[in-house]
Amino acid sequence: MKKNFLLTPGPTPVPAEALLAMARPTIHHRTPAFKAIFKEMNENLKYLFQTKNDIFTFAGSGTSAMEAAAVNLLSPSDKAICVQGGKFGERWTEICRAYQVKVITIDVAWGQAVNPKQIEKELQNNKDVKAVFTTQCETSTGVLTDIEAIAKMMKSKDAVLVTDAVSSLGGVDLQTDNWGVDVVVSGSQKGLMIPPGLAFCSVSKKAWKLVEQSKSPRYYLDFRLAKKALDKSDTAFTPAVTLCIGLNETLNMIKQMTLPVIFEHNRRLARAVRAAVKAIGLELFAQNPADVVTSVYAPQGIDTAQLVKIMRDEYGVSIAGGQGDFKGKIFRIAQMGYMNEFDIIVGISCLEMVLKRMGYEFELGNGLSAAEKELLR
Ligand code: PMP
Repeated sequence: MKKNFLLTPGPTPVPAEALLAMARPTIHHRTPAFKAIFKEMNENLKYLFQTKNDIFTFAGSGTSAMEAAAVNLLSPSDKAICVQGGKFGERWTEICRAYQVKVITIDVAWGQAVNPKQIEKELQNNKDVKAVFTTQCETSTGVLTDIEAIAKMMKSKDAVLVTDAVSSLGGVDLQTDNWGVDVVVSGSQKGLMIPPGLAFCSVSKKAWKLVEQSKSPRYYLDFRLAKKALDKSDTAFTPAVTLCIGLNETLNMIKQMTLPVIFEHNRRLARAVRAAVKAIGLELFAQNPADVVTSVYAPQGIDTAQLVKIMRDEYGVSIAGGQGDFKGKIFRIAQMGYMNEFDIIVGISCLEMVLKRMGYEFELGNGLSAAEKELLR
């Protein structure tokens, strides 16, 4: 009997509370009933983003929020810095270039985090840079970037700080207002515990000045249209009603649990996964690992595409392989959103069984034992 376990770094499992709310018949969006939910959802989003800034919600995947940030902040031939330490940092560069933005890239080796000093140096050499694009958790490598330190360094600079928190929001701390992050983008299918399909952007006052100046073409993703509607607790276009209703459920769960408790929960799960893989002789890939996804080098001679396929097709346990140059070489297990100790235990158990089948030599159960000990600490 096949049962599916979703341990991928997005999409993540959706709790029953949200599934049930989303199973109800669709309601019209220009009604008091939806407006009340939308208003509460937006207040809850502010709690999650730790901000008083406006947060715009679009029907789209996380990438649409990234594109929205680029087109609303920058005009063709404006200068921007993009930090590239993985697939999603590279995406910032690709999006900016698609809109004729002049990009200065800061290339960081996959598996490592950018040093804020590198950004500071580029800002000093390029005083006309308007925006710095960063990624809090680079999902392709599992690396956590120190956004707080970057924000601190940028306090005295003219450029705005944009952070991709698609995989980190609601999983690791991101103090949008306290730290001073001008634009935070995210998506629904990871820490927010909802299916894919919603994208979010929070926008500071400083960033809003750029929104008014931008000459880039935009329509659906135009923050000015979104703000006009949001000021009336409304949306410019038909919102993804069902997903918003589900999101309000999960945001209420997050608020009830509180962010510090969730961050500690993820930290605990991440420690257990790290202890488990080390106990079976494997090496972590990320030098500064995020608590929402653990990336691990495969043992010599084991192709992680094959490992992922067997785990998923024969046991119903989905984890992720590597991307880019690390395709086949690393695998990634998520600890984000609606996951607990026993999801981790299932993941480690299946990993051990499949690695054993693939010929990797180690003592079965060592990983499980290490994870359990860590979880009991
Ligand atoms: N940024 C990061 C850090 C991500 O993890 C993802 C999704 N894996 C994206 C951006 C892109 O989001 P989407 O696939 O929803 O467009």
